[in-house]
Amino acid sequence: MNITNYRRVTQIAFILLIFLMPVLNIFRYDTAARELIIFGQVWSLGLKEAFYADHGMHAAGHIALQFFLKAILPWLVVLAIFPLLGFLTGRLFCGWFCPEGTLFELADRLTLKLLGRRSLFVKRPNDPEVSGDRKLLYIFLSLMSMVVLPLLGGIALTGYLVAPETIWNQIITWNFTFGVKAGVIGVSIYMLVTSILVRHSLCKYICAAGLMQMLFGWISPVSLRLKMDTARADACTNCRGCDRACFMNVLPRKNKRDISCVNCGACIDACNRELGKGNGLFHYSAGEECLQLEEDFKQFKTISLRSS
Ligand code: SF4
Ligand code: SF4
Repeated sequence: MNITNYRRVTQIAFILLIFLMPVLNIFRYDTAARELIIFGQVWSLGLKEAFYADHGMHAAGHIALQFFLKAILPWLVVLAIFPLLGFLTGRLFCGWFCPEGTLFELADRLTLKLLGRRSLFVKRPNDPEVSGDRKLLYIFLSLMSMVVLPLLGGIALTGYLVAPETIWNQIITWNFTFGVKAGVIGVSIYMLVTSILVRHSLCKYICAAGLMQMLFGWISPVSLRLKMDTARADACTNCRGCDRACFMNVLPRKNKRDISCVNCGACIDACNRELGKGNGLFHYSAGEECLQLEEDFKQFKTISLRSS
């Protein structure tokens, strides 16, 4: 299996996790009962009425400790996840797990098959060449994914606020409350608009999780990054497969820290296809090797110019 195939497995597994979390009561907020449910248990501050009535120092200390442990600390952990991920793995989450990124890649693929370019609006120099056969099949798949995927996404995400069995009952009886209708329609419209019109620009300029990984990955001296083996630069055939593989419009051969790179590894696969498995010029780097990137980039200007 190449890297892209492994990535498809992690992307699909993460989407399944997003779908299953509310269904299995792993994580959801029940707006009807006003309860946060985590791993089947109601998450509460764990304080009994008697503690609020007691104004003594011991009770006050207990309340403060419970508040810190059950309310503040969990939020600090949640808020630290993406900066920490960025510091250690760069934007790996965006490329390997994010369901939106997966949806945008699918939209790219379908647009490419239908229009011969990734974007609806412009053809870019790094758009891959694809055959235009089986157009009817791709028109059908595009229409289906424009209807089915946003609806499924809407149902799944509404399950984080309305009990999934309630939603399921409403679907079976075709009798929806305002909350469920608003949730499903709102998420569906969001998914449609972002996947048709915005796509990876959302990852680059809007998504808070992406921006945090970007920032902390950028300042980190050790985060996971893509690296080119500049010592073997002469092996490059200038096929531009790496440029064309990159849906984030990075030029991998520039060998620079690029805040848009999501560590997807598509350029690694592309170069392995061109030069033979194991002979490709790209690999992942981490730790001290990352510090050499800028230096390597200066040495590699010749090839960058040759390709542009
Ligand atoms: S440069 Fe390579 S690893 Fe980074 S996003 Fe582009 S294809 Fe993926
Ligand atoms: S895929 Fe490899 S051989 Fe082709 S242009 Fe990129 S670095 Fe050069």
